[in-house]
Amino acid sequence: MNRGKELYKDLSRILITHEEIQHEIQSLADQLNQEYKGKELMCVCILRGAVVFFTDLIRLLDLPLTIDFMAISSYGGTTKSSGEVRMQKDLEQSVMDKHVLVVEDIVDSGLTLAYIMDILSKRGAKSVKLATLLDKPEGRKNDLKVDYACFTIPNEFVVGYGLDYDEKYRNLPDIGILDPKIYM
Ligand code: 5GP
Repeated sequence: MNRGKELYKDLSRILITHEEIQHEIQSLADQLNQEYKGKELMCVCILRGAVVFFTDLIRLLDLPLTIDFMAISSYGGTTKSSGEVRMQKDLEQSVMDKHVLVVEDIVDSGLTLAYIMDILSKRGAKSVKLATLLDKPEGRKNDLKVDYACFTIPNEFVVGYGLDYDEKYRNLPDIGILDPKIYM
């Protein structure tokens, strides 16, 4: 792993290494392979942050599955959630009578995911579950149920492995805490 990269200079520290991430994704995939055995799954990737996690996860799933994508408005160049949730791109396929697994990068306030889970349930999915790479429970503003979380992290602003600040840092292979001097 090349950690001498330019982007690493903007981190105060690495929080989770690429190797640790891969290990946890394998454990999650093992669990999903058991729980959805004999069922067909529709995996919904929440753009854009979850895309790296999503592509790693689905390749470890030994199940018949389809994929689709949704985009919801995010922080947009800040490190605080606005609390305002807006759909930017909807699914192409119907979720009616399907087992749906929503794949997200991080759950903070829970507002984005509560909105998504509600929409998908109302559209007649057979089941809707949530898998997130990171969970920041200290930031929660509702009682959203997180079905699967690879890591629980402290209330810090993190980047890398798909997560951005102002659209940058998504290509970092590890997850790190962004140095506050970058956004202060
Ligand atoms: P929530 O609606 O749960 O407050 O926020 C969910 C969205 O906020 C995530 O999909 C992500 O885009 C963004 N977010 C929350 N915490 C962080 C963080 O620590 N780092 C980054 N890069 N994005 C975050």
